[in-house]
Amino acid sequence: MERVIGIDLGTTNSCVSILEGDVPIVITNRGGYKTTPSVVAVTEAGKRLVGHIAKRQAITNAENTVYAAKRLIGRKWNSPQVKNSIMTSSYTIVEGPHNDVRIRLRDKTYSVPEVSSMVLQEMKVIAEDYLGEPVKKAVVTVPAYFNDNQRQATKDAGAIAGLDVIRIINEPTAAALAYGFGKDLDRTVAVYDLGGGTFDISILEIGAHGVFKVISTTGDTFLGGEDFDARIIDWLVSGFQQEHGIDLRQDRMALQRLRDAAEKAKCELSATRDTEINLPFIISTGRNEALHLQRALDRATLEQLTADLVERTVEICRQALADARLGVTEIEDVILVGGMTRMPAVQHTVATFFKREPNKSVHPDEVVAIGAGIQGAALVREKQEMILLDVTPHALGIMTFGSHFEELIPQNTTVPTARTKTFTTSRDDQTAVKILVLQGESTRADENELLGEFILTGLRRAAKGQVEIEVTFEINSDGIVSVQAKDLETGQAQSIQVTATSGLTQDEIKNMMSSAQDYMVERRTDERFEASKQEAETLIAEIERLFPEIERAVGSADFGRDALAKARSAVERTRKAIGNKTTDEVVQQVEQLGRTLRMFKGVVTRG
Ligand code: AMP
Repeated sequence: MERVIGIDLGTTNSCVSILEGDVPIVITNRGGYKTTPSVVAVTEAGKRLVGHIAKRQAITNAENTVYAAKRLIGRKWNSPQVKNSIMTSSYTIVEGPHNDVRIRLRDKTYSVPEVSSMVLQEMKVIAEDYLGEPVKKAVVTVPAYFNDNQRQATKDAGAIAGLDVIRIINEPTAAALAYGFGKDLDRTVAVYDLGGGTFDISILEIGAHGVFKVISTTGDTFLGGEDFDARIIDWLVSGFQQEHGIDLRQDRMALQRLRDAAEKAKCELSATRDTEINLPFIISTGRNEALHLQRALDRATLEQLTADLVERTVEICRQALADARLGVTEIEDVILVGGMTRMPAVQHTVATFFKREPNKSVHPDEVVAIGAGIQGAALVREKQEMILLDVTPHALGIMTFGSHFEELIPQNTTVPTARTKTFTTSRDDQTAVKILVLQGESTRADENELLGEFILTGLRRAAKGQVEIEVTFEINSDGIVSVQAKDLETGQAQSIQVTATSGLTQDEIKNMMSSAQDYMVERRTDERFEASKQEAETLIAEIERLFPEIERAVGSADFGRDALAKARSAVERTRKAIGNKTTDEVVQQVEQLGRTLRMFKGVVTRG
């Protein structure tokens, strides 16, 4: 049976899991960590770095290191969120050809799905190293609040990484799956997910026989741990400005160091009450004097600085309950997800609001990936043990006269779903209609997200109102939207995929896929070279250690002299092959050196 991995593609960290039999396994990366930073960098030499290694060099290479690409995925260039990211990012964000966003790293421009694909590719490799076989299929999670463009862009990222994303599932839903998997539960739960960049809350009913039904979901794609960090940074920067009259934000390196220090302090304050932020040589004055930043921060101050952010999550929880038409007391368990839920003030606020202590049985960093892995296995297994019923987080509709938004599929409708609406022509002999498809909660079309527009052409010529067109709007299990149109009289149908107005064309995706493949080939070759080089060097060291002894043993025998000369030239050739980085030759030489060493050892033991 084909293996499917589950990937939690996080704003800050990503995690990959697989179901082994009935046991969910979180796969550790080569460094021994269960989560990998969602950080991508390009070095001066043009080398791509992903994960911990990219994060570690961020300070010295801030301009070419991408953090939190998830905040930009599927966004339009002119959106307020992108403007915000441009102001706060250390890397350069530029406008793409389809009103989308691109990121400049060194001399190349990358689309956001491409950057995310690098993280996904890394997760794929982690899984492949563990399984010892190629992985092709994955379930990838997204915040429940992601709209169609963001989901589509995430799927594109998977495709670029060489993964067939067989399902996109919502993070809170995945968490609930992991929580309820294998237990015969019957209860209503809330999943409170505060991660690095986004906040989501979902209310679910977990029923007997493995039915997971989402009742409502809502959130904010621009509220997360980074906003907490930003508050600490503001506090540090303004303190420094008051003291020295220097704006640290002007210096990218200083800003990156501040960012790291702020996050570290925030995390420390989850465990201790006081911490010290110490950044020596943070900047130099115009007179070449080095200035240092040193400030104590206590938990109470952090809580004050971020109280409104925590309060915002409560407002959203209230909304989710109202949408589900449930009272707080009807929630029987609260599951915490995301690194930020380790903050005591967050836990305390959640407990106060829901009037119960949150559940501590699931690991907030791993639970989403585990849920994705469980769903992945369920999708390919024949036996149906689990049914997942999710909802659409946004209403879907079209623009009608006067820029009004006409809702066709309400928010929190169980997906997959389809709705049909009949339109009539509004002019005589009208042969085309333009339909704007939007997602959002506002009654004004321009305040909602434009998913796409299409023109239905080739209508029969007739008096106005005479041509009836039936349009079907569909949301599939991934939350992705498509639209079909049919001329009711002739039955002639036109199927139209809503091509997101932002995002990538199929050709672009193909090109990116092929460069991702090239990268992988190169990387595997590099790895093969490094491994054989190491092996060769070990063999050479052992052979060289034995040379004097062998020389003594063979004395002046021609045969022995010959063998020694051969061994010496094999060592020489290997060194040359290593120097030239010719992998195949190094591999060949390793075999040769192995034989030589065995022969040497034979001589030594006999001698
Ligand atoms: P996630 O997106 O779930 O990986 O969450 C990452 C966010 O959680 C980042 O903003 C981290 O700084 C934050 N985080 C991780 N550990 C802690 C902690 N012990 N206390 C507070 N925040 C944390």
